[in-house]
Amino acid sequence: MTMATMQQPPRIPETMKAWVLGNPDELRLVDKPVPRPGAAEVLVRIGATAVCGTDLEVISHGEPALIQGGMPFNRNFTPGHEYMGTVVRLGTGVDEFEVGERIAVEIHAGCGRCERCREGMYTACLNYGMNYDGHDKGHRANGFTTDGGFAEYAVNHVNTLVRVPAGMSDEEATLIVTAGTAMYGLDVLGGLIAGQSIVVTGPGPIGLMSIGVAKALGASPVILVGTGQDGRRLDIGRALGADEILTAGRDDVIAAVRRITGGRGVHYVQECSGAPDALNQAARMVSRGGRICLAAFPQEPVQVDVARLVRNNIYVFGIRGEGRSATRRAAALMAQKRFPARLLHTHSFPLAQVPTAIRYARERVEDAIKVVVRM
Ligand SMILES: [Zn+2]
Ligand SMILES: [Zn+2]
Repeated sequence: MTMATMQQPPRIPETMKAWVLGNPDELRLVDKPVPRPGAAEVLVRIGATAVCGTDLEVISHGEPALIQGGMPFNRNFTPGHEYMGTVVRLGTGVDEFEVGERIAVEIHAGCGRCERCREGMYTACLNYGMNYDGHDKGHRANGFTTDGGFAEYAVNHVNTLVRVPAGMSDEEATLIVTAGTAMYGLDVLGGLIAGQSIVVTGPGPIGLMSIGVAKALGASPVILVGTGQDGRRLDIGRALGADEILTAGRDDVIAAVRRITGGRGVHYVQECSGAPDALNQAARMVSRGGRICLAAFPQEPVQVDVARLVRNNIYVFGIRGEGRSATRRAAALMAQKRFPARLLHTHSFPLAQVPTAIRYARERVEDAIKVVVRM
C-alpha cells in the first residue's frame, strides 16, 4: 500500500462552484452538487482548465456540444474540456489510479460498445451524446456531452486519465490533450516516419503542438506556415522545432515549400488554420501521393479543386479530437521534455474570472495563445 492510499481521503464538499451556459454567450457562476463517480470513474479536483477555440464555439453557437439530444443552452451545462487536476475519489472497481495522483484528461470517453469505439476511434463514437435518460449508452465527452472543467470538480472515466509527469506545471499539463490531438492527426496521416517532410498550416495551439510532436518524431524538414499577424506564435513555432517558417501574404508559400523540398512538395500537410483556401493551398504544397490532415475548418462551405486531389492521388483526412490513445503517447514526449509546450501558456485567471479568460482567448488580448483558468 502506498502513501497516497494510507492518507485520510480528502474532505469533499457537497456543492461546488461551476460556470453554466445560459443563452448563447451567457455564462453564470452557480453552486452545483459535486458529482459522484460511477463504476470505472474517478472524481477529479480540477487544478487548471485551458480555454480552447472549441469552447468559444460551444459558448457562442452550441455545436459541437450536445446535451440531452439538443443544443447545450439553458441546460445547466458546464463547458470546458482541457483540464487537469488531482484524483480525490475512486468509483467502484477503480484500481488503476489512486487518490492524490495528478492527472490530465482526454476529452472523449466513447461508449465502448460501438464499432468505432472498438476500433480505438472513440472520438468518432457512433453514440455521441447518448448519455441521458432513455438514451444512455454511456458516452462521455467533457465539456461537450457531459459537464466540463470550468468548475471545481469533474467526473472522468479511467480510460481518459493520463498521469502528469513529475515536475510539469498545472498549466503545461492542460496542453497534454492538445498535443494528443496533434499526435492523432499524425497517426491518421499514416504515422509519420523519421526523415519525412511536413507542413503545418496555422500556428494556433494544435498547430504549434503539431510542430513539437512532428519534430520529436523525427520529421524533417518541419515547415510552419502562418500569417503576418502571427509574429509571436511563429517565434514559438521556431522554439518548438520548426526548421522553416513561412508567412502567407509575404512569402510565396507554395514556391517556398517546393524549393525547400527539392521541387517535389512535402509528404504531409497538417492543416490547423481553418482558412477558406487552406485545403487548396495544402494540395499544392504536398507531393503527388501525399497526405493532408484537416484539424481545423472554415465556418462556411468552400470551393475545392477536387481535380488536383484526384489527378495527384492526394489523400485527405479529417480528425476529431484525440483518438487511439494518442494523448498518452504525446504525454510521453512531453515527459521526456522533447519540446517546450509550456511556451504556449500566456495568461492565467482565477475561476471567478472565466468570462475574462474567454475574452482574452477570443480577442487574442495581449497576444494571448493559451489562456488558463486556475482553481
Ligand atoms: Zn480543445
Ligand atoms: Zn462508441
